[in-house]
Amino acid sequence: MMSHDLQWYYPEKISEALKLIKKEGIILHAGGTRILKTEARNLKGLVDISHLRLNHIRKEGKNIIIGAGCTLSDVINYCKKTNSFAGLCMALAEAASTPLRNRITVGGSLKDFPVWSSLYSPLIALNAKLELAGIKEIYSVEDYVKKNIIKTKHIIKQIIIKDDTDVICIVRRFNIVRFEYPIFNLAIVFKVKNKIIMDSRIVITGVKGRFHRFKLSEKALNGNALTEEVIAKSNEYFTPKFHTDYKYSPEYREHVAKVYFNDIVNELKEVMK
Ligand SMILES: Cc1cc2nc3c(=O)[nH]c(=O)nc-3n(C[C@H](O)[C@H](O)[C@H](O)COP(=O)(O)OP(=O)(O)OC[C@H]3O[C@@H](n4cnc5c(N)ncnc54)[C@H](O)[C@@H]3O)c2cc1C
Repeated sequence: MMSHDLQWYYPEKISEALKLIKKEGIILHAGGTRILKTEARNLKGLVDISHLRLNHIRKEGKNIIIGAGCTLSDVINYCKKTNSFAGLCMALAEAASTPLRNRITVGGSLKDFPVWSSLYSPLIALNAKLELAGIKEIYSVEDYVKKNIIKTKHIIKQIIIKDDTDVICIVRRFNIVRFEYPIFNLAIVFKVKNKIIMDSRIVITGVKGRFHRFKLSEKALNGNALTEEVIAKSNEYFTPKFHTDYKYSPEYREHVAKVYFNDIVNELKEVMK
């Protein structure tokens, strides 16, 4: 239950919002789709982000900058309009429902990091960076979680993604019914030149430890053509470890993830022909 004395704040400056959230029991309110479920009991105040001018998407040099207040729909529309980040676009378009995608923000999704996150695996695979308010250092999304910045009180200002047209990003989510929280989200980014994989980043969420990057599988692929031997080697190192619940055993989840991984690599092989 949420307190009846809950105070709402509507700051127009990020510095004001930062001061407010340093106080006990006061947090940011973005799309508001998660707050009731996770933090309601001890809440004293909510800081509305809608006047902080965080809902921009623009190209700056070689980067695309996505304001933390953008909704999933804003990002999908931008990607479709500019024909960019097809994998990210597809992943977000499959999340939740249209009314929810019109509310859920990228900032709230990053801070929240639910196990069913559709955002994290493509962003880590794309090596996206985060700018936080009042902090000089730019963190990769990977480090934001690994270094536990996610657990501190902060405001995400924007996401920075290199707009690299050579990159192929393929994302798969596992759920039986479309409108169901995904069990896992697998994203693979490949950089290919002259039929050789120059670089790859393989990331899964929904696993033990929130996310996992398969650096040995990446190593098996990088610098090589996609021969049967290379594919087999990368498959060998792709061993995601899952928790269990009433739905599926960890072994079954791992099996499905392996099938998806193999499918993606073979899909790339077709594209490279
Ligand atoms: C039925 C349903 C299905 C869903 N399915 C999916 C799905 O398939 N894939 C998916 O990815 N998501 C899905 N979601 C969304 C996900 O579960 C969260 O609800 C959502 O990511 C939270 O985003 P929000 O903008 O609503 O954040 P809020 O609920 O407003 O906030 C969440 C947290 O983030 C903090 N916060 C907000 N903005 C910032 C910021 N700029 N900087 C720092 N902290 C901030 C808040 O203080 C709070 O702690 C689904 C949600 C629902 C209700």
